[in-house]
Amino acid sequence: MPAPDSYDAVIVGGGHNGLVAAAYLARAGQSVLVLERLATTGGAAVSTRPFGGVDARLSRYSYLVSLLPPKIVRDLGLDFAVRKRTVSSYTPTVRGGRATGLLVGGDRTRDSFAALTGSDREYAAWQRFYGMTRRVAERAFPTLTEPLPGRDALRERIDDPEAWRTLFEEPIGVAVEKNFTDDLVRGVVLTDALIGTFADAHDPSLLQNRCFLYHVIGGGTGDWDVPVGGMGALTDALARAAREAGAESPVRAPAPPLE
Ligand SMILES: Cc1cc2nc3c(=O)[nH]c(=O)nc-3n(C[C@H](O)[C@H](O)[C@H](O)COP(=O)(O)OP(=O)(O)OC[C@H]3O[C@@H](n4cnc5c(N)ncnc54)[C@H](O)[C@@H]3O)c2cc1C
Repeated sequence: MPAPDSYDAVIVGGGHNGLVAAAYLARAGQSVLVLERLATTGGAAVSTRPFGGVDARLSRYSYLVSLLPPKIVRDLGLDFAVRKRTVSSYTPTVRGGRATGLLVGGDRTRDSFAALTGSDREYAAWQRFYGMTRRVAERAFPTLTEPLPGRDALRERIDDPEAWRTLFEEPIGVAVEKNFTDDLVRGVVLTDALIGTFADAHDPSLLQNRCFLYHVIGGGTGDWDVPVGGMGALTDALARAAREAGAESPVRAPAPPLE
């Protein structure tokens, strides 16, 4: 059958966002073409089999799932699963000439805070702070698949003036310095705010707050889960859903730059 010379939608790039859009549009009866310049779809969410002779698929770049709404998995009937992690991070350091570190995640977290900082104070602050982000997560995450709420509507929904000020109005550095005294603990909290940005903790642009929020609202809990089969398992399932709904997705098909 000859390829059509026009489509209802042409999507440039077969990363997870392009594939989700393609699958929904095709299921809504639109004719869809996804152009992907590389040899495979998936973008930065792909898997590889790095060990010869071992049939294990590992994520190549992006490797943890938090922001994928379960509704998309259900709507598109994706064969995709995640597993919980017990350890979120380990940050090594040297204190008083002795090698030590901070373990976050699992039953040993409290002891790790106490061993590093010498008391339960920082751990209690951690529990309070992330209790607050979790309450915001429960209310903010569902909005990701709803028409985008305005600022006032979101503030009303979050319904916690202290949390609103801390996360949406003041640079996150203010709350981090107010709540935590240990420099390493502050650094671990700020990882989620600064990673991938060129902002600092007190940047008036609040870009760091936006980055922090994306890291703590996922799934309505802020949990980051491990995809079974790596991220490629997700994008392969998305590509399949798009294809089965009728979307065409040629690879090695770069879209020309826009004039
Ligand atoms: C090292 C690394 C680690 C990360 N870790 C995580 C993580 O653990 N969890 C997480 O949620 N996020 C993570 N991210 C971020 C996440 O990978 C991205 O947000 C996500 O991949 C964006 O998806 P996308 O579909 O918008 O774009 P991409 O994944 O970038 O896909 C874009 C696609 O478009 C194609 N393309 C571009 N231009 C053209 C053109 N002109 N014609 C045809 N095709 C084109 C590209 O080849 C690519 O396949 C990480 C990112 C990196 C780089």
